[in-house]
Amino acid sequence: MTREEDHLKAFDASILGMFATMGRKAAARPRVMRAVMRAYRHQRGAARRRRRWGRRGVHVPAFAILSVTRRCNLSCTGCYAGALHRSDEPEMSAEKLRDLLGEMHSLGVSIVLLAGGEPLARRDLLEVTEGFPRILFPLFTNGTLIDDEVVERLSRQRNIVPILSLEGDPFQTDGRRGAGVHEKVLAAMDRLAAAELLFGTSITLTRENFDTVTREEYVRGLIERMCRVFFYISYVPAHGGTEDLVLTEPQAKTVAGIVERFRERFAGWFLAFPGGEEEFGGCLAAGRGFVHINAQGQVEPCPFSPFSDASLQEMSVRAALSSPLLRVIREHGGELQETAGGCTLWENREWVAARLAETNARVE
Ligand code: SF4
Repeated sequence: MTREEDHLKAFDASILGMFATMGRKAAARPRVMRAVMRAYRHQRGAARRRRRWGRRGVHVPAFAILSVTRRCNLSCTGCYAGALHRSDEPEMSAEKLRDLLGEMHSLGVSIVLLAGGEPLARRDLLEVTEGFPRILFPLFTNGTLIDDEVVERLSRQRNIVPILSLEGDPFQTDGRRGAGVHEKVLAAMDRLAAAELLFGTSITLTRENFDTVTREEYVRGLIERMCRVFFYISYVPAHGGTEDLVLTEPQAKTVAGIVERFRERFAGWFLAFPGGEEEFGGCLAAGRGFVHINAQGQVEPCPFSPFSDASLQEMSVRAALSSPLLRVIREHGGELQETAGGCTLWENREWVAARLAETNARVE
């Protein structure tokens, strides 16, 4: 087995390990635990399908980040979607979304992070996901559109796990996301907890909020609100002039240790991005572990690397996973280093742009 195969096997094992941990930590909540164990069984089946395709020379990632819309009801400072993913092209139809989710399921892509814009700004989204009970959908949402009707629909689709965005304390969240947003997010969390739904939070780690959001009291407050999944995502300065929000090197160096400590300390599941990839041989983008599909159906290496040579409006997911751009990035994964704990492809965006120009020149 090659080193790369070892890394990807370890990545697959870590996904199953995540469900086993979640199952143990959700033991006190039977409905949540049943949903987690059901997802665990589906993940094992999907991992088998990925291995089968692997033997046929098709590399299938476990994850996909699917931006289902560019629309959003908020306008946050430093919004990467607004900075990197502007387009006039039509968004994928519900039918198109169903087609690609169906194909991803058959290939073994078992976790599809729903993103945007604000995914719940698409009123047909929960009709589309209803047809895919075996895919786990972490739903990255600003939380302000989670009303009683949405909670009722999520109660019938327990394979969707809402991940609500927070920036720190009320002052920090409202400062970036708008007045009253922090309170709306906490109210949405209380609705989800009352419905015994598994949910979590996504926290963008910046130089400013680092001390707040890495304090045990902050996490304990959310755990007491029944929040059980924590994504710590290091800020990427997609908007020029916001570099001073990026974590300092000493801060970046402590993230992995903090996450490890929280995993031992709390009844929750914690992940740092980027940063948690070293143990799997480095950046997992470009299909190694995940790909990004933007709202108009283009397949990109990562949300922070808006370059594409493959559109799902013209080809299958299987064909797109073998696109020249994704392959050249996978082949050079080892060289694409990033030193400050940030996003490798963001740091090497000129290199990615040059590879795209090369692949496009070859096609012409
Ligand atoms: S909620 Fe998300 S997509 Fe909407 S403006 Fe804020 S950061 Fe951007």
